[in-house]
Amino acid sequence: MFHRVFLSHPRQQAGTPSGLVKPFAALALCALFAVAPDSLAQEKVLNLYSARHYQTDEQLYSNFTRQTGIRINRIEADDNALFERLKTEGRSSPADVILMVDAARLWRAESAGLFQPVQSKVLAARIPANLQGGDEGKGAQWFGFSTRARIIVYNKMSVNPADVPTYESLADPKNKGRVCTRSGSHPYMLSLIGAMVQRNGEPATEKWAQGMVANFARPPRGGDTDQIKSVAAGECGVTLANSYYYARMLRSTKADDREAMSRVGFIWPNQQSSGTHINVSGGAVARHAPHREAALMFLEYLASDQAQAYFADGNNEWPAVAGVMVKNPAIESMGKFKPENVPISAIGRNQVAAQKILDRVGYK
Ligand code: FE
Repeated sequence: MFHRVFLSHPRQQAGTPSGLVKPFAALALCALFAVAPDSLAQEKVLNLYSARHYQTDEQLYSNFTRQTGIRINRIEADDNALFERLKTEGRSSPADVILMVDAARLWRAESAGLFQPVQSKVLAARIPANLQGGDEGKGAQWFGFSTRARIIVYNKMSVNPADVPTYESLADPKNKGRVCTRSGSHPYMLSLIGAMVQRNGEPATEKWAQGMVANFARPPRGGDTDQIKSVAAGECGVTLANSYYYARMLRSTKADDREAMSRVGFIWPNQQSSGTHINVSGGAVARHAPHREAALMFLEYLASDQAQAYFADGNNEWPAVAGVMVKNPAIESMGKFKPENVPISAIGRNQVAAQKILDRVGYK
């Protein structure tokens, strides 16, 4: 049994009923306690603040409850709303586990002191080191549980994929008037640029950002799916999008989506060099988690083979844990690629530098 709580009902389900137990009920509880101490010795509830909500979530959460007896109270909202809510709630926040998407947002939450360090042999062993976030020396504070790639999408009629094999090539003068992106300040772009700062340094990344602005077909606007559609429509020749948006369009049965996808192709960027930029959906234990043990159990559960498959497949992503297989025909049809290995914690740390570069070159 789950409780889905939305932001319009703040803290409605997240509190605990302790203190409200009437004397006769307390007696009844004592009697029960003698019979089943384990089930009542600790509170079996977990308050989950999640920016993810997909069809496979029901299985994901019900399996955890079945395995542990811990009931999950879900509070679902987008990343920004969760961030603001956690800040407002402060020490009295009922949040135990926080799920967010993109290293940029996870890092922002970490920097705001919304997480706590986690020591877990399971997570340390299962989640690759470059997908563990947190300040160096202070231990891991957030973990990627699924990965997504930032791919290059091009119009098959107007662009030769050989002209756009890398992120760097999008800024080449030969691609003038072809390039579209969403806002440079969106977390997906800031993370990509943060990774470029890590790989290429700030001066080279600034030069790249300048080249991007010079090559725009139109000012940045819209989301990743809008970019893909603009490329299909010929408004733009080439763009950047997260892989799951492309996979979602590939799986779409709508006639206009199928028509759009027939006009575009994609490449895995930087295959001859640094590899394709990778980002994560991730989770952390909340700074003031009332149910810290349950929170840790839940994160470790998310790293299990079965949970990994549900978590990744829910959004056409890849499991973070090596060797976990997901049956997803759209993802499989996109083939294999070489991923970038820039640590997500470095991507986080470079956010500020990335935004300053964008401001300097007028990349809105
Ligand atoms: Fe997204």
